[in-house]
Amino acid sequence: MTLILIFLATVTGMELFAYAMHRWVMHGFGWFLHASHHRERTGPFEWNDLYAVIFALPSIQLIYGGVQAGWGDWATAMGAGIAAYGAIYFGFHDVIVHRRLAHRVVPRSAYFKRIVQAHRLHHAVESRKGAVSFGFLYAPPVERLKTELRASGQGQLREPATD
Ligand SMILES: [Zn+2]
Ligand SMILES: [Zn+2]
Repeated sequence: MTLILIFLATVTGMELFAYAMHRWVMHGFGWFLHASHHRERTGPFEWNDLYAVIFALPSIQLIYGGVQAGWGDWATAMGAGIAAYGAIYFGFHDVIVHRRLAHRVVPRSAYFKRIVQAHRLHHAVESRKGAVSFGFLYAPPVERLKTELRASGQGQLREPATD
């Protein structure tokens, strides 16, 4: 039971961690790698993908520690939580929103539409500053994001496709 809670808390915590990283690191000093994600991709990979590798390291370390190095099951559960967040993020962000793999999924639920639209609004800004919506699995109401975006004055508010 405790292990499931550790796992779930880690998945949730990763959303907060990813928000902070995206807002203050990737759009901060780490922009040199993340900028590639705010431009049209020219090949199968982008420099921004290195962040996925970086975020996978603590997960690998924790699972190794839990399974091989006697750290305890909490470490395995936490490592698995980070990995699960990575998998969810890849599925929604890279596959559903950015279509890095071909698919025919049309987001229908209100929640699903909201996170997809919110992330498109994040991409309305191609510069380091002025972007909105840094989280992913939780997104504020789309109207609020649009207002924020207009207020920031940085984004060319390309209306996202309404599918
Ligand atoms: Zn960004
Ligand atoms: Zn994106």
